Amino acid sequence: MECGTEIGGRLLYRAGSVFHVGGERANAMVIPVFEDTNCDVCGCVESRELIAVRGSAYHECTRCGLIYARPMLRNVTEVNEEQYQAKLDFYAAKMRKKPRYARKLRRFGSYRKTGNFLEIGCNAGTVISIARDLGWNVKGCDISAAATRYAREKIGLDVFTGTVEEAAYPDGYFDVIYTNATLEHLRHPLSTLRECCRVLRPGGMFYADTVNWDSYTRRILGVDWRHLSPTGHLHLYTPRNIRELCRRAGLEHVKTWTRGVRSTANMPGATYRPPWYMPFLKASLSLLSRFNCKGDSIEFLARKPPVTTLGAG
Ligand SMILES: [Zn+2]
Repeated sequence: MECGTEIGGRLLYRAGSVFHVGGERANAMVIPVFEDTNCDVCGCVESRELIAVRGSAYHECTRCGLIYARPMLRNVTEVNEEQYQAKLDFYAAKMRKKPRYARKLRRFGSYRKTGNFLEIGCNAGTVISIARDLGWNVKGCDISAAATRYAREKIGLDVFTGTVEEAAYPDGYFDVIYTNATLEHLRHPLSTLRECCRVLRPGGMFYADTVNWDSYTRRILGVDWRHLSPTGHLHLYTPRNIRELCRRAGLEHVKTWTRGVRSTANMPGATYRPPWYMPFLKASLSLLSRFNCKGDSIEFLARKPPVTTLGAG
């Protein structure tokens, strides 16, 4: 640890300090480096700690309610790269789930005008390869060199290694921008969504599937909730966060919905054991979550207005 003090078992830090935090990834080659940060959406420095976990903690911004890891991972690309390289076989397995993805992607057919489709966090290209099969001119970007190399060399896709901001696509180029399990990994979600707004055509659609902090599953599993992973999930969202993020990015929020309730932790070292009545409770909560947006995963659609408006500061 370069800066910071541990007093009474609690890690204290100050703005600008940098940490090497062990524990979660004791056997990793890349050591996660954490630094203090403030809210990415509204810039507020004040936050309220929600839960301490694995060398960091999740905080809620006291002004806008964004939930983020504080301290936050600084060497995002290096840590992610290590995880991706260990998963190259997993990409091939994902390709076998093509029919399910194809059903999902057909929903975007009605937005086709330019014919251009972008996936942010495209991984090894499973989704955009299916979109290509459906007639889209596809592009993808991902910070993983290993995954994007796989997409280019094994599948022949036009994939950029880096962030969407770095890719510098033309203004108004895409009909659809798709992200799946990516928003939670972003270091700067507002910057990313503003860039998406710029590169979408007027009336173009942004779709995302991400983690729901405001879920029954998080309440049931507590510290055993698998999404509490400060080296991977830098932000965790609620439906309210999503609407605010869209508004500030200049996107019109169209629709948010959630799905799923889990009652098993599915992670090494988890101590949670569901009570005998959990199957009954889970069935009830699953039904309720269709109406109150407390399911596991948030999905939402947001549209670039026909006449572009700049996001509010
Ligand atoms: Zn904020």
